[in-house]
Amino acid sequence: MTLRLYNSLGREKQTFTPIDPLDVRMYVCGPTVYDYAHIGNARPAVVFDLLFRLLREEYGQDHVRYLRNLTDIDDKIIQKSQTSGTPISDITTHFTAIYQQDMAALNVLEPTVQPKATDHIPDMISMIESLLARDHAYVAEGHVLFSVPSMETYGALSRRDREDMIAGARVEIAPYKQDPADFILWKPSDATQPGWESPWGRGRPGWHIECSAMSYKHFGPHFDIHGGGADLTFPHHENEIAQSCCAHNSPYVNYWMHNGYLIVEGEKMSKSLGNFFTVHDLLADWPGEVLRFYMLGTHYRQPLNWQAAEVQKSRDALERVYLALRDVADINAQPQKAPESVLEALRDDLNSPAALAAFHELVTQLNKAQSPEEKAQAKGQLRAAGAVLGIAQQDPLVWLQGPPKENQEAAITAAEIEKCLQDRQTARKEKNFAEADRLRDLLISQGILLEDGPNGTQWRRG
Ligand SMILES: [Zn+2]
Repeated sequence: MTLRLYNSLGREKQTFTPIDPLDVRMYVCGPTVYDYAHIGNARPAVVFDLLFRLLREEYGQDHVRYLRNLTDIDDKIIQKSQTSGTPISDITTHFTAIYQQDMAALNVLEPTVQPKATDHIPDMISMIESLLARDHAYVAEGHVLFSVPSMETYGALSRRDREDMIAGARVEIAPYKQDPADFILWKPSDATQPGWESPWGRGRPGWHIECSAMSYKHFGPHFDIHGGGADLTFPHHENEIAQSCCAHNSPYVNYWMHNGYLIVEGEKMSKSLGNFFTVHDLLADWPGEVLRFYMLGTHYRQPLNWQAAEVQKSRDALERVYLALRDVADINAQPQKAPESVLEALRDDLNSPAALAAFHELVTQLNKAQSPEEKAQAKGQLRAAGAVLGIAQQDPLVWLQGPPKENQEAAITAAEIEKCLQDRQTARKEKNFAEADRLRDLLISQGILLEDGPNGTQWRRG
């Protein structure tokens, strides 16, 4: 088994070698919990969930730790609280719960740890103290700033030159800054803003220090993988590296991974263009598994183009999977390890499109299987492959028969469908074919697909 990952730090695929194979550690920047997550926010959650599943498969469930943080203190949250009059903790509790529900619907496993920034303020303060003690930071007008010129290798991840960095960070040219590239570690809070006591007065942390402090607290100074969206490379990840390396005089992360951005029907997603989709809204129209399946159809480093017509194809593809599983519902799957064809694709820098192609091949094999032994084996392979991909784990009847896909209130219920089918059966027995046809047409008009077979009539929602 050789896992190769594209490392943003060397800009090449590299063989993954964990620092400690008994404790593989991965950190991913999580959401700022003040609003609904949009599909762009969901992408890293799905991408790194896939990597988490693969790492667990390769190193064992108990030997991988995955940390995804919750940013629950941030100027955007403060602003929302001030304009809406809602306490900050109400906003963050509410949107944290929604985020967790949304991710669960996308079959994203719970990370091993989900630390909240506000639970780690003392860790941030002590890290800032250590940066001050090492002359990598300075205090100015109640702020503490990281001194970028104090770190010779600053900029190694994003490979930006100095002018780019200053322009790219859109830094305020504040009078208290010694250098325009310096960034905030701590800032003062006024009476209307949340704050914590610190050696520099009452204030709050900058965003970048949150991730450095939380990863240090749970993983120590040096760990394996750090992930996030490509838009976080600079300045966020560059600044994390600066803080963590300089505070601990240690290497920080061995493999940096970044997922590509998201576009909608070929255009940038934005509220003003009216093509802005939250996960919450999409889940009203599509099962979460369809959204996940769709995302896996694009390699994580490529831009993901959200196209409604293509999402429908993902639903159709999953339908085929669950129909194959329904046909072997009475056969117990033979438990086994995930097939090499799927694992090999994923080991090549998480090549999920190739893994899905291998997965479809397993569906074909299941459909072709003849003997009960062949079917049990093929079913076991399909289920095991699905477990690594985070798909095809449901009861096929739950998938095929409900809940209704659209017009939820108006749709016929499962109990009503069963009743119709029984009445149709009775009508047929009584040779009342007009009534039997009427009932069939009624079901079809409700979008129900019927298949008459040797074991009676099976139905699913079309
Ligand atoms: Zn972060």
